[in-house]
Amino acid sequence: MRTKEDYIKALAKMKRNIYYDGQLIDRTDELQMECINTIGVTYEEAAKPENQELCTAISHLTGERINRFNHIHQNKQDLHNKQDMTRMLCQKVGGCIQRCMGIDGTNAIYNVSYEADKANNGATQYHENFKKWLTRFQTEDMIGCCAQTDTKGDRMLRPAEQPNPGAYLRIKERLKDGIVVEGCKLHISEASVADEVLALPTRALRAEDKDYAVAFAVPGDWEGMKQVVTIHNFRPREHYKRGFMPGYTDSYLIFDNCFVPWERVFLAGEHLMGGVCALLFALFHRHSYSGCKPAIGDVILGTAALAAEVNNIHKESHVREKLAEIIMTSELGYAAGYTASDLGKPEVYIPGMGFVPFGPGSYIPHSIYCNVGRCLTGEAVYREAEILCDIAGGIPSTFPHERDFKNPETGELLLKYTKRNPNMSAEDQANFWRYMGDQLCSSTGGIMNVGNYHGGGSPIMEQIAITTQYDIESRKKLVKHIAGMSGGDRDVLAKKMREGK
Ligand SMILES: Cc1cc2nc3c(=O)[nH]c(=O)nc-3n(C[C@H](O)[C@H](O)[C@H](O)COP(=O)(O)OP(=O)(O)OC[C@H]3O[C@@H](n4cnc5c(N)ncnc54)[C@H](O)[C@@H]3O)c2cc1C
Repeated sequence: MRTKEDYIKALAKMKRNIYYDGQLIDRTDELQMECINTIGVTYEEAAKPENQELCTAISHLTGERINRFNHIHQNKQDLHNKQDMTRMLCQKVGGCIQRCMGIDGTNAIYNVSYEADKANNGATQYHENFKKWLTRFQTEDMIGCCAQTDTKGDRMLRPAEQPNPGAYLRIKERLKDGIVVEGCKLHISEASVADEVLALPTRALRAEDKDYAVAFAVPGDWEGMKQVVTIHNFRPREHYKRGFMPGYTDSYLIFDNCFVPWERVFLAGEHLMGGVCALLFALFHRHSYSGCKPAIGDVILGTAALAAEVNNIHKESHVREKLAEIIMTSELGYAAGYTASDLGKPEVYIPGMGFVPFGPGSYIPHSIYCNVGRCLTGEAVYREAEILCDIAGGIPSTFPHERDFKNPETGELLLKYTKRNPNMSAEDQANFWRYMGDQLCSSTGGIMNVGNYHGGGSPIMEQIAITTQYDIESRKKLVKHIAGMSGGDRDVLAKKMREGK
């Protein structure tokens, strides 16, 4: 497995195709280092013997030990370990660990490429090609990002109906040795620090949308792909350093007549499979949220509890109620993910067919629980920010800059007038408010909230998944029986539960 230093060296060798604020920048530009250091934690922690079980796995392709972020889930325990690894690593960096898009994208394509070949009666070799790509990805311990979200143009029009045919990434041309693609994927997290970009569809597709049913992988610096990046760093600290300084990036990936050779193409025109691929990536990604969102809940809980302590209001009953609310949301999200892992099977929910066997036998978390957990925790993001704002009062938003605390004319006075709880040093209290200003009041904090709300699909997408997949009809029959109406059935749910449906 690679070290963080190997990873940085590989990034440094990549071609320049990253545009930031009007300039081309190197991948290892100072501005990107905080993001690189955040992902670097996945290498550092996987190298520790005590984390071997959680952060590494044995590849089913090579039999070698690999980073768990590059693993295909072979059983329920793998799903449990992925959830727990995600929570543990997100705790360590105080937010998003940023490597989950790769594991979620690879697991989705692994299954869909297999089914597409099966449906094509062996006329395509998507799955074999993907396994070759995956073997190298695992062996070289690469970072993958997943480019799903298209620009989508007019939200009321389907891909083939858009006035701009590139509003969704599409196959523009099919050549003997590959395809030419055109389009743009938005908000692609850590693409600017990834070795490989996995592209896959964003929604269900109709036969006339077949050119939009495309999945492939290309290196992050691939010819014909430009990245326009936004980099989210907190205000730099000169004197009062944070314990860990995370950073994030998101790219617009512009595919401008970009050639992709067949050996890197894993779906090209199978519209039904394109829709399943979109659904499956979203499903794996929502499962990842059942690890990261509870970790973010851990951080929010600690922040709220400390804000209360600094303000010396921590014994007040309204604080207890708010802390309990954060705990309940986080742990229900975790419990939903745990159940999704435990009920995981090589099965997928296909609209109109229900749960059907899918893929070559790797494990897929249970859809209802992934969606319930992600929706519950995603929708709570702004409520949790409200709780932090409430308990802190106004201080994080106007806290003076570092140098005013260093200035002999103002430093001591500021410590004197910002000290609240007599049992905590004024310096610690000041560092706490600096940190809380980062989280609650900075542009990066705001971006993190939007990401936590919309990433993996907006809550409405989970609500659609839940209500279309949940067996509401059986519940109606149950109530019809209880109410004494015709068509009732008191045993229908018990029978389905016995059958594990
Ligand atoms: C910080 C951040 C990081 C992200 N990282 C990634 C990443 O790594 N990879 C990736 O692929 N994506 C990523 N995303 C994208 C994320 O998955 C999307 O933002 C999310 O799916 C919502 O899509 P959208 O932004 O296009 O909003 P829209 O889909 O346009 O939603 C806006 C509103 O319009 C409504 N709406 C949209 N279409 C319809 C319709 N047809 N009918 C009725 N209402 C509609 C929605 O319900 C919503 O209320 C990231 C997003 C953020 C903010």
